[in-house]
Amino acid sequence: MQAQPGRGGAGDRIADPWGPGAPYGAGVGWPARVDTFLDGVAGPEEVDRWVHSACVLCSNGCGLDIAVAGGRMVGVRGRADDRVNHGRLGPKGLFGWQANNADDRLTRPLVREGGELVETDWDTAMDRIVQRSRQQLDTLGPGSIGFYTSGQLFLEEYYTLAVIGKAGLGTPHMDGNTRLCTATAAQALKETFGTDGQPAGYTDVDHADTIFCCGHNVAATQTVLWTRIQDRRRGPNPPRLVVVDPRPTPVAQEADLHLAIRPGTNLALLNGLLHELIEYGWVDRAFIDAHTVGFDELAETVRSYDPERVAGICGVPAGQVREAARILGTAERLLSTVLQGVYQSMSATAAACQVNNLNLVRGMIGRPGCGVLQMNGQPTAQNTRETGADGDLPGFRNWDNEAHIRELAELWNVDPIVIPHWAPPTHAMQIWRYAEQGSIGLLWISATNPAVSLPELHRIRSILASEELFVVVQDAFLTETARYADVVLPSAIWGEKTGTFTNADRTVHLSDQAVDPPGDARGDLDIFLDYARRMGFRDRDGQPLIAWHDPEGAFEAWKACSRGRPCGYSGLTYRRLRDAGGIQWPCDDRHPDGTERLYADLVFNTDPEDCENYGHDLLTGAVTTQAEYRAANPAGRAILKAADYQPPHELPSEDYPLLFTTGRSLYHFHTRTKTGRARQLDQAAPDVWVELSAADAGRHGIGEGDLVRVESSRGRIEARARVTGIAEGTVFAPFHYGWFDSGGAGPDGRPRAANELTITEWDPVSKQPHYKVCAVRVTRVAGTDEHGEA
Ligand code: SF4
Repeated sequence: MQAQPGRGGAGDRIADPWGPGAPYGAGVGWPARVDTFLDGVAGPEEVDRWVHSACVLCSNGCGLDIAVAGGRMVGVRGRADDRVNHGRLGPKGLFGWQANNADDRLTRPLVREGGELVETDWDTAMDRIVQRSRQQLDTLGPGSIGFYTSGQLFLEEYYTLAVIGKAGLGTPHMDGNTRLCTATAAQALKETFGTDGQPAGYTDVDHADTIFCCGHNVAATQTVLWTRIQDRRRGPNPPRLVVVDPRPTPVAQEADLHLAIRPGTNLALLNGLLHELIEYGWVDRAFIDAHTVGFDELAETVRSYDPERVAGICGVPAGQVREAARILGTAERLLSTVLQGVYQSMSATAAACQVNNLNLVRGMIGRPGCGVLQMNGQPTAQNTRETGADGDLPGFRNWDNEAHIRELAELWNVDPIVIPHWAPPTHAMQIWRYAEQGSIGLLWISATNPAVSLPELHRIRSILASEELFVVVQDAFLTETARYADVVLPSAIWGEKTGTFTNADRTVHLSDQAVDPPGDARGDLDIFLDYARRMGFRDRDGQPLIAWHDPEGAFEAWKACSRGRPCGYSGLTYRRLRDAGGIQWPCDDRHPDGTERLYADLVFNTDPEDCENYGHDLLTGAVTTQAEYRAANPAGRAILKAADYQPPHELPSEDYPLLFTTGRSLYHFHTRTKTGRARQLDQAAPDVWVELSAADAGRHGIGEGDLVRVESSRGRIEARARVTGIAEGTVFAPFHYGWFDSGGAGPDGRPRAANELTITEWDPVSKQPHYKVCAVRVTRVAGTDEHGEA
């Protein structure tokens, strides 16, 4: 085994997750540093071949090569020439691949017989799914079939699934766990700029003089990007750093200014910052007049958010609000980044839009160092959104625009009426509600683990366990969710199949197959194609609806679908991606070399013929009609949308006096399906913990390491306490930890899934659940050397 940072000596990437620094100055390229980890071979000389790929354990999408020896994966090596990581890999990327070799991979399909899951063959498993699909179609129609997919499949798989759902079955009920992750990013981009699509790119870190991280613990969620920011901070002319986060994360500790706000109050703070920018004239009036609409309404809305009012709502000193506004207001190259602290909280889209507004009123977009990164959490979340495997239509098309529907109908050669477009595609929280009510009778879950990741888990367990609901789970492991399935399909994962995926800054990577999947496991694309063939989906001429048979064929079909749209892929080929590494979309006739940052021409996608939807009222979620949008035609200008702060619906009370918020560990991704099976990562963070402030700990008689019980009105968990600098009144737990053995409890019998506590409530615009805000109480169960009750 060897961990080689490549420069700076042998590194322990668990103890030092970001590795040795390489300071650099503004406008100078980020120096390369190649990180390698091999296991099971003595050294690189024993590697048979290196296979072109990129990491799929977060949205950063770091370029890497997979080491193969004896037909098995034996390690990874960062690609020095990749634009995203310049050779670096974080702990998840270095160690997470070991899950591929885990002993408990699923190798044969399973079907439920007499209440038990038993092994079977593919024909039996697929026939059961097809039989149930036909039964649903014959009795209740296509609206009785739902799909809940992922942010971890490949573009080719999502696009194939989208065509099956929208043109084969004709169901509007398809969404991804991206609803719990990037739905707000997508919606905030649509509301402001007309369509989804990340305005900035990672090279803007190289140019910015000020970085504003709002609810974005980049050190944990995109480890290698944090290395890049740290390297800028250690170099000449470092960027100033302003951070909004209730927790003292590594990012907050590095910041020039850390605003430790109360969970659920982002919108009030951002309104306060906008208030100060306008008050002090730190706005670019010429840019606003030429390239935006809505400034007067914005100015009117934020007028009452003076620093004292904001301080009262957010629990931060008024002076900090003023200082943050001064830093942002005097920046010359401002890069703003946003993630789950905004997306999974109250008024998520409204708050995310205010970050867009901050950059727009300062005229800081579309040029080096200036822009917004409405980040993604999951590695392939962007592709779910592009291809329409979530609650969108493929190619950022608008469900309410007949011309867009006709384009898809012509492309797929189907009657437009087949494509569900009488209402917005169904969002995940509603899909689960339909399953609960019984109107969805078949729910097909692929590459995600909702029995740990959705809010209010007792409810999700009860839906999955319903006799009336036929549950299909497609996964590499017998997850907590798979244990409820009627049919389990064993899938190949990253490294065992070929496909492309797109990271948070629009960089498209090709990941080649390195090894064979175990046993009878099959790639997700093969599974979807097999289903389409068995269902006999046909186009208008009686030809197979899906004409492709392999990943490259699916990619070529997707290129045709994306042609002419903002996410154009038509200039990309597998060969080009293999030769050149990551390339940013749009890459098409107009952008043959890809696109470093969007909107350099300051023309936004807000024309009524182009936009992805017509927008919403940010406060209520009410849809703006096509007629209303056309009447106020923004015609290529960005839309400054405003909203008043609303307090969380569930506030602390006498019974539940603290606010509970969830988040992530640097060492784990999602529900640990992969990272929990990598020894180094599991050992680095083996169990859930609870963070609380010294004041709250003292008040409840809790010491460091004590076992505590956290209860909301929906459930409870038990975990060891960490006393930290978290905002007083706030309790934190990471959401990764499920149970592998029994309903609700971890291996030692303690309930430990943070989502036992969270609330079934969501943002009115993006429909993203409120994982960051609910009321709890905390009690001490046992001391550090006591085991406590089960
Ligand atoms: S930063 Fe993300 S993509 Fe890069 S190595 Fe780490 S987990 Fe993988």
